[in-house]
Amino acid sequence: MTLPAPSTASTAVHRLRAEAREAANRCIQCGYCLPVCPTYHSMGKETHSPRGRINLVKAAADGKIDLLDDMAPSLDLCLGCRACETACPVGVPYGQILEAGRAATVRETAARGRSAGRLQTLALKHLFPHPGRLRAAGRLVEAAQRLRLDRLVFAFPPAREAAPALTALGRIVPSVEGRFRLPPGTRLPAEGEKKRTVAFFQGCVMDAVMPRINWLTVELLRKAGCEVVIPAGQTCCGALHVHQGLPEAAAELVKRNLDAFEETGAEWIVNNAGGCGAMLRECGHVLADAGGGWPERAAAFAARSRDISQVLVETGLPPLVKRPEGLVTLQESCHLRNVQKAAEAPVKLLRETAGDRFRALSGASDCCASGGIFNLLHFEESMAILDAKMASVRQTAAVTVVTSNPGCHLQMRLGIRRAGLEDRCRAVHLVEYLAECAGLTAER
Ligand code: SF4
Ligand code: SF4
Repeated sequence: MTLPAPSTASTAVHRLRAEAREAANRCIQCGYCLPVCPTYHSMGKETHSPRGRINLVKAAADGKIDLLDDMAPSLDLCLGCRACETACPVGVPYGQILEAGRAATVRETAARGRSAGRLQTLALKHLFPHPGRLRAAGRLVEAAQRLRLDRLVFAFPPAREAAPALTALGRIVPSVEGRFRLPPGTRLPAEGEKKRTVAFFQGCVMDAVMPRINWLTVELLRKAGCEVVIPAGQTCCGALHVHQGLPEAAAELVKRNLDAFEETGAEWIVNNAGGCGAMLRECGHVLADAGGGWPERAAAFAARSRDISQVLVETGLPPLVKRPEGLVTLQESCHLRNVQKAAEAPVKLLRETAGDRFRALSGASDCCASGGIFNLLHFEESMAILDAKMASVRQTAAVTVVTSNPGCHLQMRLGIRRAGLEDRCRAVHLVEYLAECAGLTAER
């Protein structure tokens, strides 16, 4: 073990102590969180359990172990699913400890002049905060798909060997249909009697790669009696930045979103991505010390944020036109369940539309191991967890696996492919499924 030189390590360690020590001290070491932790299950080591990670953060904050060599690798292999928080009897805020640990890792890496994840840092700083650039990237993917270049590249054996995660995930990206992109700065009327005015949060990945799902979301909302505003100036929620240890970059994105959404005067801010929704609900964390009224504005914004499933439970679904064919099951979004505490909303909608064709998935609340970009960074570890989940999917005999987050959606598509279930099972976003039930066809 190499302890950091005080001159370079002191700032990161000091901040880690200030941001996480008190929270970590609340842990009473009971171990109730271990059975719900997917990485503890799959890797079988205390250091890959919530309790183990908390102890490593404590030790690093006290300068007893090295922040980069001893603490960071374990935090790196955490999915951030936050199932551990729901099992904890004393309310240890694991998410806060994890975020502080990752931010300390980034600061320490920079202080020691080490390079780390250059490509991902470049993308987080120069791609995700810029909706125009992301849309251009989406158009590139769309053009490549039209010319079938993606299949050519991803089927190329050297590409598979050089970047197995990228090629595996690249092959299951759904067709990008740019014609469905929503025009920013528009206000679309409710169909029939207006019940509410809502503002739609498009998300960066959803807007770039899955615009058809966003379009269907807005159409469903309108059919359910909502006037929908699509604010110009909105941007990425910052969740990926926080998870990768860049809270300052996330704070700038949150501020832009507050400016964009406050102008609309909408009662609710609606999103269709569990991970983004969790960040919208917790956006105040990155502005806690900002002053200037930002924390209060963030709190008001968070209180108005809702997942699409919660809104549709509240407004009522559009009339059911078509019952689903075959059995339907649900893979839950960890962040919808564990952070937004709204797990029951999608289940209610599925029971209402599928009736006795709905089958609960054993372990539905267990993370699918998409974990933001965990599956890209730790492909083998992610696939071990995913393959175990697919055994449960097979048991349900479902032909439709419903998801409510883009990362889970892609991961379940990959799982179906890996399990050889492609000819009898599909993964869809909840919005796609509900649109089918409402007889909505994505044509424009
Ligand atoms: S966030 Fe998920 S993977 Fe990480 S320690 Fe908690 S339960 Fe385990
Ligand atoms: S359940 Fe809570 S108190 Fe118990 S070990 Fe896990 S984090 Fe610590």
